[in-house]
Amino acid sequence: MSQADTTQRFTGNFTQQEPIPEDAIAAAVAVMQGGRLHRYNVQSPEELSETALLEIEFARYQQQPYCLACASGGYALQLAMRAWGLQTGEPVLTNAFTLSPVPGAIHAVGGKPVLVETTSELVIDLEHLQHMIKETGARLLLLSHMRGHLADMDALCDLLQQHGVALIEDCAHTMGASFNGQKSGTHGVMACFSTQTYKHINSGEGGLLTSGEDELMAKAIVLSGSYMLYERHPAAPPLPVFDRIKLQTPNCSGRMDNLRAAILRPQLSQLDNNAQRWNERHDAFSQALEHNSNSIRLPIRHPLAYEVPSSIQFSIDRFTDDDNQRFLDTCMSRGVELKWFGAAAPAAYTSRYDSWDYMDHRPLPQTDAVLSRLYDCRLPLTFSVDDCSTIGTVISQVEQSIG
Ligand SMILES: *Cc1c(COP(=O)(O)O)cnc(C)c1O
Repeated sequence: MSQADTTQRFTGNFTQQEPIPEDAIAAAVAVMQGGRLHRYNVQSPEELSETALLEIEFARYQQQPYCLACASGGYALQLAMRAWGLQTGEPVLTNAFTLSPVPGAIHAVGGKPVLVETTSELVIDLEHLQHMIKETGARLLLLSHMRGHLADMDALCDLLQQHGVALIEDCAHTMGASFNGQKSGTHGVMACFSTQTYKHINSGEGGLLTSGEDELMAKAIVLSGSYMLYERHPAAPPLPVFDRIKLQTPNCSGRMDNLRAAILRPQLSQLDNNAQRWNERHDAFSQALEHNSNSIRLPIRHPLAYEVPSSIQFSIDRFTDDDNQRFLDTCMSRGVELKWFGAAAPAAYTSRYDSWDYMDHRPLPQTDAVLSRLYDCRLPLTFSVDDCSTIGTVISQVEQSIG
């Protein structure tokens, strides 16, 4: 498409992921032929199930000693907070700019979400975080690396350490990412990942929890529904740790099965390669925006952050409310499906913090200002690099035609 052509429609599908790789399909078929779909259904105690193998491989990938595969990312968040010892009614700090499963997980385990402001670079505001730590006395931050944007993790960890606040990371958008060469998900006591279809590896539903903490991981494994079969977890703490906690820890079933694990293992081996492909697409998109428009602003990445952008965010501050609606509608009419984080009413996957009425929230003017002109576009790997340039060009043409 030439840049002068301001009528052409983009015809790609923004929710179309790549097919499951052939070797993953073959592995899944083998599991089904064997009939042993439950993770503990092995022929001998020494045999490692697909789920156990996935845990070994993901722990190695994350350079963490322990990994537990479970039912979903949201469930992993709940496990992490329960294993950490969250008390009923206890405040939990979290970003205001995140998706609803994050405050939902805090609510599910009896915590009280305390929302923290967002910066214009779409990361947690450290000044406001410090303020809220002092005001609430919270002992835990559940940090959502929303849309893959990494805060200054060194400054964040210093601040938390100074105040004795523990960190659990929601890495649903940072699988494969790192800060200053250190994998995202290794800065806190536990990290939670999702393998749901829209994330970086795809088993439909699924979650992964990693940690280097003996007792927390033993508790998480028993909580996940291990019965007294926890010795079948290879990426787990030594057995005496379980002896200390096993009778004090309830079973809240939420295991992963061998079918999902079989689908994920070959995808994990492609993750770093795919991370690069996502970055190529993101760069093509952002170059097209920057080349064609002066009013579209992309968040500035921390120079030490390596991110895996499976979507792109940008803001257009000059728009009025009318402009905003016209922009979204015109992009849509040219085949470019955008989400707007500023909508007052929740729509599809997107909801603003002030629509989570089951919890207390106070106004967060800085977050409101950031979200009011913030747009979001998925970048599935089924789009070519050229597709991503085209989308960026269409968006800047539409922006320039408005106001
Ligand atoms: C998807 C997602 C989750 C939850 O993952 P599920 O596997 O869908 O439960 C948590 N946090 C964020 C930011 C997410 O996008």
